[in-house]
Amino acid sequence: MDKNQGTPDSSVVNRTNEEWQKILPADVYYVAREKGTERPFTSKFEHSKEIGTYYCAVCGNPLFRSDTKFESGCGWPSFYEPISKTSIIYLKDDSHGMERTEVECGKCKSHLGHVFDDGPPPTGLRYCINGVVLDFKKAEEARKKYESSK
Ligand SMILES: [Zn+2]
Repeated sequence: MDKNQGTPDSSVVNRTNEEWQKILPADVYYVAREKGTERPFTSKFEHSKEIGTYYCAVCGNPLFRSDTKFESGCGWPSFYEPISKTSIIYLKDDSHGMERTEVECGKCKSHLGHVFDDGPPPTGLRYCINGVVLDFKKAEEARKKYESSK
């Protein structure tokens, strides 16, 4: 369904953390590059039901569609499926005495959050994502932009 939606330009973004620190707002840098976690129940996206696409706030890589978002009650924006297989990287995370799977942006390798296997069908997965590293674009705005650029 989304075969072409992912990354026409699939080049990986490589920057040092010093460079990222200059480019990114402090809260984004903390989560994306230092693998921090935003405080739960603080993201403006947690309860958002707007139709559109969620992008990586660091590099603009499309990550999740709004129709895969669900109310998990965990305090962070939650999705059951990424836009494409390559939009996300999975890493084993043994920190804090837990065995978890960390998810990073497939393009710039920014830390996004974790994925758990207690999500809803059809995937049974719960991508628990820090809202601060997400950038949302409404479908309607994207369409208008596309129309006006023709
Ligand atoms: Zn990214």
